Amino acid sequence: MDLKEWRRLAVQSVFLFLMVLAVGIFFSGHQSENSGNKIQAAAKKEEPIAETAESGGEEKEAVIAVQKTVKTAAKKKKQTVKSAKKKEYKHVIVLDAGHGGMDEGTVSVDWKYSEKNYTLTFAKRLKSMLEEKNIKVYLTRTEDIDMTKKARVAMANRVKPEIFVSIHCNAAEEWERSADGLETLYSEKKPHYGRISNKKLADILLEELVKASGREKRGTIVREGLYLLRHSEVPTVIAEVGYMTNASDMQFLLSKSGQDMLVKGLYNGILKALGEKKA
Ligand SMILES: [Zn+2]
Repeated sequence: MDLKEWRRLAVQSVFLFLMVLAVGIFFSGHQSENSGNKIQAAAKKEEPIAETAESGGEEKEAVIAVQKTVKTAAKKKKQTVKSAKKKEYKHVIVLDAGHGGMDEGTVSVDWKYSEKNYTLTFAKRLKSMLEEKNIKVYLTRTEDIDMTKKARVAMANRVKPEIFVSIHCNAAEEWERSADGLETLYSEKKPHYGRISNKKLADILLEELVKASGREKRGTIVREGLYLLRHSEVPTVIAEVGYMTNASDMQFLLSKSGQDMLVKGLYNGILKALGEKKA
């Protein structure tokens, strides 16, 4: 190395040293600025801290109040969940809307109206009314579809409801067009494992249907040959809510007020059979 090179190296070293020094000063300055801020912030906080210390009692009370509110809310939520569960299982019933799909059931004399539509309308209305009363209602069908009697009974036997109510409209031969009114059908032979006998269920339903609608009381009728009654293993009734072959009954079935009354009768009868309404 000659002298020139030594000088260059010396200059470079000094430059590097100055750079390192400058960087060091910059950072230490920055740091002290930060700590300066911290100190300032702490100084600023001092006043409020004193205030908090003074109002500490109040704050403590407020905290306790909030804790209580949270606890109460949690308790309420728990209760709501509990009651919702209870709501769902107060009673379970199965409603059967007679006929459906290709099976029109009986039809009005003018062929304009089909039984399958009335039974479905009634069943759906009853479901929404009864579920407001914490009664779980299973419908054998919710649409205009074909369904065998076997499938309907199988559903009832599987669900094991407290009661199984099948809704139908009646029909009479041409020479019996005067036949009108309400009937409930039941089996005496078929054993039941529920809270109520088939006969009692049929009696209650007929009574409430008549009370609500004021239509002709034809009576409770024993029918041992009907598939539904023969195969059901739960308290079962078939409710015949009017004769579609009778002019007066048909008019009643067509009217909004008539439908309301029949639905109300079935509703009251079901509640009574479940022990939800006084006898
Ligand atoms: Zn029918």
